[in-house]
Amino acid sequence: MTERKFSFSHGLSKRQLVELDACTRCSECLKWCPVQEVTGRRQISPPEKIRLYREFIENTEGLKARITGGKVDRRLLEDFVRAVYECTTCGACGEACEVGIFTQRLWPVLRRKMVEMGLGPIGPQANLTEFVKKTGNVYNKPPEERFSWFPEHIKVHERAEIGYYAGCTGCYEAQPMVRGDVLALHATGYAFTMLPPEEEVCCGFPLFITGQWDMLEDLVRRLVSAYETRGVKLLISSCPCCVNIMARDWPSLYGRPLPFKIRHISQFIAEAIKEKRLIIKDHLKERLIYHDPCYLSRGVGVIEEPRYVLKSIPDIELIEFERHGLYSQCCGAGGAARKVFHENAIKMGRLIIDEAVEKGADRLILSCPACYSKMHEAMEGYEKQIRITDIMELIGSLI
Ligand code: SF4
Ligand code: SF4
Repeated sequence: MTERKFSFSHGLSKRQLVELDACTRCSECLKWCPVQEVTGRRQISPPEKIRLYREFIENTEGLKARITGGKVDRRLLEDFVRAVYECTTCGACGEACEVGIFTQRLWPVLRRKMVEMGLGPIGPQANLTEFVKKTGNVYNKPPEERFSWFPEHIKVHERAEIGYYAGCTGCYEAQPMVRGDVLALHATGYAFTMLPPEEEVCCGFPLFITGQWDMLEDLVRRLVSAYETRGVKLLISSCPCCVNIMARDWPSLYGRPLPFKIRHISQFIAEAIKEKRLIIKDHLKERLIYHDPCYLSRGVGVIEEPRYVLKSIPDIELIEFERHGLYSQCCGAGGAARKVFHENAIKMGRLIIDEAVEKGADRLILSCPACYSKMHEAMEGYEKQIRITDIMELIGSLI
């Protein structure tokens, strides 16, 4: 196959080009990769993906290109496409990387290159752009059903300094979680606003992570101006992926600083507890184990606040996974890989369940709608069972 016009290096930042060159193949990251663990596939490994991509650049743009005429082996390219999309983009490899390669950002950028070549996205991911255009959400569900879970007794203000973004996955796949968010927010006594269901469109993360970037600027402009019109100064969401793209990428997609701050709901609720605006009255004599979502801990550094919230529940005992915080192990739901490589995701989810059960936890606490949906699936028909609850679902039930 000859790729004369397409450039593998174009669109990669200087940092990413240096990162491709910097991998020493030390293999330190291999033992942290959950996909490697459940599949044993060498191709998925970070040094192998980096080696292949570096080879594509060298063979098409380097000295070798003058000799070979810029050829890339089709089979190697297909291997690479599968490997880069089978990855959950959990970023654990980057956290462990000896030379500091920021893999949670590198993999989506390489996926975008595959989309440019017409080789990505893969499987049902290819429908996402069309679904968002048609319905505003990645699940192709009717927008009028987006807030079907919303507690009727809670008032949403037309304008308020606090805005709440529920997100597609919470609304359509993890309703107890977003319901808990709203109950907890309401309990703080602060007024908050939301967009009407047809205006609360996708935050862009699923499109970003699968390399389909065409619609991103449009989505961000629509959302930012809608919240600005409502007087929002602080936008809160419970979805780590939404918070991630809002905090990291919305400003550049919007073209200037956002007119409001972004916070994960656990940060907001932790502060409300400290200020005694929210008091958890009910006791819970249980042993809880908290799973850090990849895009919350490694993504935006929110590690202590969910623990502070949980420790504020009278009588609970909080225990930890061996891998937690920045080194948390992906539950398999990340990177939009869960709907394509379903079996991998189930196996990864069951590794988390196994450890939670072995450690004698009464309940597994999550803080991400994708984890929530996938972990419930992983539990179906499994011999080991544990109760799964979202952190705000739990708080909402105790206030
Ligand atoms: S991001 Fe996660 S799944 Fe992907 S290669 Fe790194 S450790 Fe493996
Ligand atoms: S830890 Fe970093 S340098 Fe070492 S093999 Fe993995 S990606 Fe390469």
